[in-house]
Amino acid sequence: MRYPANYCQVCGHPLEDRFAHGKMRRVCPSCGFIHFEDPKVAVVALIEHEGRVLLVRRRFDPEKGKWALPAGFVDDGEDPTLAVVREVREETGLEVAVTGLLDVSAGTGRSGASIIITYTATVTGGSARPQDDADDILWLDPTDPLPDLAFDSTRQALRRWQVR
Ligand SMILES: [Zn+2]
Repeated sequence: MRYPANYCQVCGHPLEDRFAHGKMRRVCPSCGFIHFEDPKVAVVALIEHEGRVLLVRRRFDPEKGKWALPAGFVDDGEDPTLAVVREVREETGLEVAVTGLLDVSAGTGRSGASIIITYTATVTGGSARPQDDADDILWLDPTDPLPDLAFDSTRQALRRWQVR
C-alpha cells in the first residue's frame, strides 16, 4: 500500500502536484525537491526439493489464509538474490541457495509489488517450519491439485514449473 507524500523530506514544506520529468509528481515549491515514486521490488522463491515445491500459507492480509511461494520485499541497497534467501529463512527456517532466474514480471493487484523477481532455489540446510508471515507450509507435488492461491504470480510460477 502506498501512502501519499504530503511534505518535503528535505525542508518540510507541503508538496504540490506539478508536471516534472514527463508526468505529474509531488514537488516542493520551496526547495524544488521532486518526490519520485520508486517501484517496489518483490522477490519470490520457487524452492525445489525431491521433485516438490514449497508453499507457505499467509498469516496476514493481503490474502490471509491462502497459499503462496515464500516471498518478500527487497530492502533499499539489498541484493535481490540475498533478499530472497533472507525471506525464505524468515518464513520457513530453511537455508536455500538460488539456482536460477525463473521470471521477472510486473506486479498487479493486491501483492503491493511493482516488479516481481522469481528465483528457483534449492535447500542447503535447516528444516521447514512456518514462522513469521507464514502459519503453515506444504510441499506441493507437480501432480497435486493447486490449493487456494493468493496471487496470480504464484499460479504463473507454478505453471512454469509444472511444464518444465
Ligand atoms: Zn523542500
